[in-house]
Amino acid sequence: MLKGKTALVTGSTSGIGLAIARALAKDGANLMINGFGDKAAIEKERAGLEKDFGIKARYSAADMSKPAEIAAMIAETEKEFGSVDVLVNNAGIQHVANIEDFPIDRWDAIIAINLSSSFHTIRAAIPGMKKRKWGRIINIASAHGLVASGQKVAYVAAKHGLVGLTKTVAIEAANDGVTCNAICPGWVLTPLVAKQIEARAQQSGQTFDQAKVALVSEKQPMHEFSSPENIGALAVFLASDAAASITGSSYSIDGGWTAQ
Ligand code: NAD
Repeated sequence: MLKGKTALVTGSTSGIGLAIARALAKDGANLMINGFGDKAAIEKERAGLEKDFGIKARYSAADMSKPAEIAAMIAETEKEFGSVDVLVNNAGIQHVANIEDFPIDRWDAIIAINLSSSFHTIRAAIPGMKKRKWGRIINIASAHGLVASGQKVAYVAAKHGLVGLTKTVAIEAANDGVTCNAICPGWVLTPLVAKQIEARAQQSGQTFDQAKVALVSEKQPMHEFSSPENIGALAVFLASDAAASITGSSYSIDGGWTAQ
């Protein structure tokens, strides 16, 4: 379905972004992957995408907190592949603390990576999409884009902002063949969440597995994590022709978290 198209997935060296990249590659898209991590492991992932799916994959080390690096990454993708057709804004970080204890540099980093980076990627990629009259922008928000929890002030503010940004871009691009939607996952067991489970286990004296069940069942009526592959499948759907008239929407995939 996406054969001949190019997808750029930010933060695709781990977790949800990696699963989305693999799902889009399986559907035929060439890929620009991005994110931090061990150089050899990233190269293995890049080469594996090419081998497993018969597509072309490149890697950009651009830091999503740096607007100039983001602009260069979009330009490099357009130069290498001729276009950015599917843009998935996925890179994200977390920090957990009450607002009075929240380090200012963590607030700035979370707003930059979880919110502003999407402004910068879309700003740079959307002119080409509009010109070609085809584009799919998928922003990985969160249940925390729709509802709040304590101790996550920056994350909740950034993700609510990302849902708002999604709606505005959708309206602006509505008649240019470009859609913009948000995916709002509940708990997905990735390194980002494993850190929160470890902290919880340490504080409560529980084992990792006990803390894991406590974490998920506190928020979700369905006491199960979504898998990164579940999120990848939804991204593929939003990139498909079947989703051509879906825009400005926020798709919850959260085991019932925000139904309450
Ligand atoms: P993860 O920690 O496994 O992956 C995060 C990715 O972002 C990694 O590839 C990392 O290298 C990259 N990254 C971090 N800072 C970056 C920067 N400055 N520049 C470029 N890349 C950077 O986390 P994940 O759980 O897969 O999260 C992916 C997205 O999904 C995030 O936006 C997160 O907020 C969102 N999300 C996660 C969950 C969950 O339960 N895991 C739930 C809802 C939303």
